[in-house]
Amino acid sequence: MLLDQRKLDLAVEMQAKSYALLRWVGQAVASGLLSFRTAHTYSSLPLAAAEWIEKHFQNIPEAARVDQTDIPVFANFFSTYLENSFDLIENPGKIKFSPDTHCFCPMCSWMIDAPNLKTKSLSAGDKKRALKMQIHSVLQLGIDTSAPLDESLAQAIVSQNGEATALLAYGHDLIQRLDATANGPAVLALWRRFAWNASGSPKPKFRLSTKMILNAESELRALVAPR
Ligand SMILES: [Zn+2]
Repeated sequence: MLLDQRKLDLAVEMQAKSYALLRWVGQAVASGLLSFRTAHTYSSLPLAAAEWIEKHFQNIPEAARVDQTDIPVFANFFSTYLENSFDLIENPGKIKFSPDTHCFCPMCSWMIDAPNLKTKSLSAGDKKRALKMQIHSVLQLGIDTSAPLDESLAQAIVSQNGEATALLAYGHDLIQRLDATANGPAVLALWRRFAWNASGSPKPKFRLSTKMILNAESELRALVAPR
């Protein structure tokens, strides 16, 4: 399926707000504003996140707050953000919280560690998987535009259009994340392909937009379709 602009708009918003929420939680935990004494029995991270966000809704700053009706989808997205991008450090909260006084449900485990979550380091396997996602998205674009292509051509398109194909693959992944599908750190590798510069540092002031992703799709479409 070609990218759906409406879903993409929602996903791009959820991503920016997930980042803002995690930053806010980090500050709130560090300054002792959040308590983790209530024992929860949530079984999954998305479910735990939804109830957590609901409960703290009034305190969450504007930049990290979604419409109340979007909370379930935001919780889905937020959980993939944690899983794709961060490593949960051993001995969560050992400084501020003693283990017998806080909750170990999936959400609290993450939140307690929010001030010192570590960005995942990428393995060669993650990068290879990112490349596969790029190739797959080009093959899919061929199918969706009635111009199917073979894998070697898709590979060539990827190697000549690294940024655009990473954006396309990332766009498809963004939409899956609305359903809580986390494809893991390969997604972080895709992100760095377009949001970081060649020297390996984040592009200053980079801000992902729907337009950027849709432009990449139409650029690639012109390469795939008119043969
Ligand atoms: Zn909990």
